[in-house]
Amino acid sequence: MPISDPMKLQIAQKRLLMIKICRKCGARNASTAERCRRCRSYDLRWKKRTVQK
Ligand SMILES: [Zn+2]
Repeated sequence: MPISDPMKLQIAQKRLLMIKICRKCGARNASTAERCRRCRSYDLRWKKRTVQK
């Protein structure tokens, strides 16, 4: 869904990007998480995806 409002786009982008993904089980974790809440792995990566305009 295309977002035209730049303010909404900014908020959506923050929400979508401020997430860490576990490399082992793929679970989403909080941006502050040091390790996965599901499998307790420390192998987390930042989600890098920009919102499509
Ligand atoms: Zn995990």
